[in-house]
Amino acid sequence: MKNFVFSSKIFKGSKYGEGHPLNIDRVWPSLELLKIMNWVSDDEIIFNEPASIKELTLFHDLDYLKTLKKAERFQFLETEEKNKFNIGIGVNPIFTEVFSRPAAAAKSSMRAIEYLAKNKAKKILNFSGGTHHGRKSYASGFCFLNDCILSILKAKELGFKKILYIDIDAHHCDAVQDNFKNENDIQIISIHEKNKWPRTGNLEDCKISNIVNLPVPEYFNDSEIIFLIDNIVIPYSIKFKPDITIIQAGTDCLKDDPQSKMILTNSSYWLSISKLKNLSIKTLILGGGGYNPYVTAKAWAGNWLVLNSNEDALQKNLNYECRELLSSLKWNNSRVRNGVPHKWLDKWSDGFKKQHVRTEIIELVNEVKKIKNL
Ligand SMILES: [Zn+2]
Repeated sequence: MKNFVFSSKIFKGSKYGEGHPLNIDRVWPSLELLKIMNWVSDDEIIFNEPASIKELTLFHDLDYLKTLKKAERFQFLETEEKNKFNIGIGVNPIFTEVFSRPAAAAKSSMRAIEYLAKNKAKKILNFSGGTHHGRKSYASGFCFLNDCILSILKAKELGFKKILYIDIDAHHCDAVQDNFKNENDIQIISIHEKNKWPRTGNLEDCKISNIVNLPVPEYFNDSEIIFLIDNIVIPYSIKFKPDITIIQAGTDCLKDDPQSKMILTNSSYWLSISKLKNLSIKTLILGGGGYNPYVTAKAWAGNWLVLNSNEDALQKNLNYECRELLSSLKWNNSRVRNGVPHKWLDKWSDGFKKQHVRTEIIELVNEVKKIKNL
């Protein structure tokens, strides 16, 4: 059984609009880096078209989906519709592909589950997925749909009995938790920055039978994430014995991301994913947040090597073509006022930074162990 990258051609040229944190290219550059390096072959890449409204009703309300499609067609909604569905308001703007783009990400995630269910693949990577805030009938936190929930529901539909969802994005997976709480055949683990939007994901929720929340303080470091994974995530998951694992691998937990104060290197990020990818034979790795295009594209491209147990290749320097590609990406941020810093263009791997595991993290582990009888 092979591993695959699932994506969609819609991502090239699609932007959320000036001033939005997602007005950057992330998905296609991640794949392009892999192609430049000859790390992926054409028969390992599958491009998907957007999911239909019917397919998306597996989770979302029909009225909401029709309105989202209408917003794309007319690039306009009446105020009443905007307010009802939170489309075209604040961080959820109406942009050219406002339906088709999230529908393509969702199709990749759902089709990936089909491939895994039919033994056509063991591990699949979908950089475009990971939209963990989208609600049944309203947009939230840049997410118009929720491919995480759709892929869990699809896994259930196709006969997976024990589904493990692990989320390492800097933000809590509020919509996923709300939709599946108390469903014990679906276990949900999230590591996220404490007191950050959407301000859910408290430690107390660990008292819910299928929820493990690990809210961490600012400046969460490499040694700390490995400590949490080794002491909570892995023993808890092994006890559950999942037959499929879905990992939301947002990169806003990395040091140079503007949306969090976490300070992980891509080395600890990849090491985390390599420890999580074999908790079950079948694994789907999604994208998620990630608002520094250079750091995100490298990290997501690297996930393909991690997934294929070929991470040693990431010790190399970037070649000229990769540097050119990354340098050409636009980012309206003061960090690149004087050009793209060398630290993002020279090497693939940041190098693991061994640091102190703070008392707060040790106490968090002890508390969760107590609640969950680990
Ligand atoms: Zn995030």
